[in-house]
Amino acid sequence: MKCPYCGSENVEAVKSWEMPKMGFNVTHYRCKSCSGLFNHYVGRGKEFVLRVGLRRRG
Ligand SMILES: [Zn+2]
Repeated sequence: MKCPYCGSENVEAVKSWEMPKMGFNVTHYRCKSCSGLFNHYVGRGKEFVLRVGLRRRG
């Protein structure tokens, strides 16, 4: 897993949960390099990453 903020792979999974309605499994990650928070969604044959939290760029 790569951090979407800084590209580091030095991330840790904080927690994970299911979204049965959406059919996704979600894992919440924290980047140890930049402290960025993001969620990794997996389900229905696809996966994507969404940035979460108050960190903003630009
Ligand atoms: Zn990062």
